Amino acid sequence: MKALSKIWMDGKFVDWDDAKIHILTHGLHYGHAVFEGIRCLSTPEGPAIFRLEDHMERFFNSAKMYMMKIDYSAKELNNACVELVRKNGIPESYIRPIAYSAYGEMGVNPSNCKISVAIASWEWGRYLGKDSVEKGVRATVSSWVRIDSRALPPQAKCSANYANAGLAKMEAMKMGYDEAILLNSHGAVAEGPGENIFKIKDEVLSTPPASSGILRGITRDTVIQLASDLKINFYRNDITREELYTADELFFSGTAVGVAKIREVDGRQIGNGVFPLTEKIMKLYEDTIHGKVKRYSKWLTRVKP
Ligand code: PMP
Repeated sequence: MKALSKIWMDGKFVDWDDAKIHILTHGLHYGHAVFEGIRCLSTPEGPAIFRLEDHMERFFNSAKMYMMKIDYSAKELNNACVELVRKNGIPESYIRPIAYSAYGEMGVNPSNCKISVAIASWEWGRYLGKDSVEKGVRATVSSWVRIDSRALPPQAKCSANYANAGLAKMEAMKMGYDEAILLNSHGAVAEGPGENIFKIKDEVLSTPPASSGILRGITRDTVIQLASDLKINFYRNDITREELYTADELFFSGTAVGVAKIREVDGRQIGNGVFPLTEKIMKLYEDTIHGKVKRYSKWLTRVKP
């Protein structure tokens, strides 16, 4: 990781190397932390943060589910993100707000812990690599089951969830795949470890509903809106494992991965190896996040120098 200049911590911009916390920070031990992943991208009018307000709304909803009281308003944190991008001075970056139970008390009960908030940003290319754009990725259905709302709220972007995601990711990589696909406890397709999934069959686009145990992705929501513009038929419904194998096209969606074609699942080629509808969506998505689609400029928060 390449160091940038500043990180925002509890209201102050500190130097990158000084952004440190105590080893007995509660959230580090018990996973009581919620976070976001946001992208700032270059546009013809300079750097712009994509759907900042929507990400911040999800951040506060995640905190609410864990009864974390954040001592800043969404507006203050949005402004801090913008200011951070400005201070770090690079046109494209990934922005990571995190709220966590801080140092002070140990034990499983986080109720008496102060909630600290930090925002970092760094340079991050395509999470699934360059090939994910051109050729598409190879995925495998994981032996690990996606957490469900009887264990942890899947719709909260909580650090603890990523212990489950990490197991699935490691297993897939060890088996020589690029990415995992997790099923839920009912055996239906949920999502990837850090991205949602879409299927296209007979020119109809579909994705698992929120009730399948997914994180409601902001890219997922973006794709759904773009598909409607492209007059692609769409519905949300459960997807079975075998429907993955027999799909015409499959793709992942997420802030870090963008829209990434899936060319193979468990050794089976998807469709004929061509992705006409996915590529249409990918192109419109890329143009949208890079400020080239006027009607979606409402999704961009500009960072003036
Ligand atoms: N699912 C999980 C588990 C994720 O971590 C992410 C990334 N935040 C997503 C889906 C996609 O969400 P988004 O499009 O908002 O990045």
